[in-house]
Amino acid sequence: MARIGFIGLGNMGGGMAASLVRAGHAVHAFDLAQAAMERAGAAGCTLARSARDAAAEADAVVTMLPAGPQVDQIYRECVVGAAPTRAVLIDCSTIDGPTARAIAAYAADQGYKVADAPVSGGIAAARAGTLTFMVGGTGEAFAAARPVLAGMGKAVVHAGANGAGQAAKIANNLLLGATMIATCEAFLLAQNLGLDPQTFYDIASEASGQSWSMTGYCPVPGVGPDSPADRDYDGGFAAALMLKDLKLAMRAVQETGTSAPMGAAAEALYQLFVNQGGAAKDFSGIMRMLQGAGRA
Ligand code: NAD
Repeated sequence: MARIGFIGLGNMGGGMAASLVRAGHAVHAFDLAQAAMERAGAAGCTLARSARDAAAEADAVVTMLPAGPQVDQIYRECVVGAAPTRAVLIDCSTIDGPTARAIAAYAADQGYKVADAPVSGGIAAARAGTLTFMVGGTGEAFAAARPVLAGMGKAVVHAGANGAGQAAKIANNLLLGATMIATCEAFLLAQNLGLDPQTFYDIASEASGQSWSMTGYCPVPGVGPDSPADRDYDGGFAAALMLKDLKLAMRAVQETGTSAPMGAAAEALYQLFVNQGGAAKDFSGIMRMLQGAGRA
């Protein structure tokens, strides 16, 4: 059993902290939002008074925050210096590679082991403890982070040096953004051609059009597994966060001279969805925007 400081108890972090409690760890949790703190308390976490308090005396500190600026601030003001240097610092947020490498260098200079460990799997996998972690860091940091991550996931993969986990994550989410939009388009076309959505799902989920966006997170209400589509696209993975990831991916696309026209189209469509008021909706809610623009 380890003592784990957990900072950021939102859609993902709430379920992840609860998984760590079930795995037998003592989790000292903190979030700025009172409702998130109450859920963490009900899940068996000890509620910390501040992010610094969560990090104090920890064997591991896990952060699950929206984006790079929050992670940078929390590392510099609340984690480094507050946690004992024996602690492994694990950032599971999806952030830009330069910030991930900068905070790793800053914390490593003070004697910490540091890993970027972004996740894939969504809120259902966060709650069930079946996430996939892609980890950047030294071999020593990976070895220290692995038992903590194993309490929240089904797969923990060492991607390479610090920042490599974030590289894997933004490439994955470029694929996810594009496949979610294509999945919505395919359901709308099938419907406009007279097919029942459930019938199309039964066919495509067993055919070459199958993807996680369809069988793991179907954007059509009442079809496929339980997903945010069944709750009017609330909760889940906010469209604003998907747009953040696509912007990170497209910045990397430009820096590396990669050809990614599908990624560019996905970024433009999520930008439009966010501009039209969809920022807080789940990213599968882009179905609504496409429905509004077409016949179905
Ligand atoms: P969220 O907005 O639901 O949760 C973020 C939490 O951080 C909130 O509860 C917020 O109050 C808290 N927070 C923000 N600043 C803070 C601070 N300074 N101190 C303490 N708490 C603070 O976001 P989420 O959906 O849980 O996503 C978190 C990260 O995981 C993001 O980087 C996202 O891109 C990534 N991610 C999300 C999903 C998903 O399906 N939701 C999947 C994979 C990865």
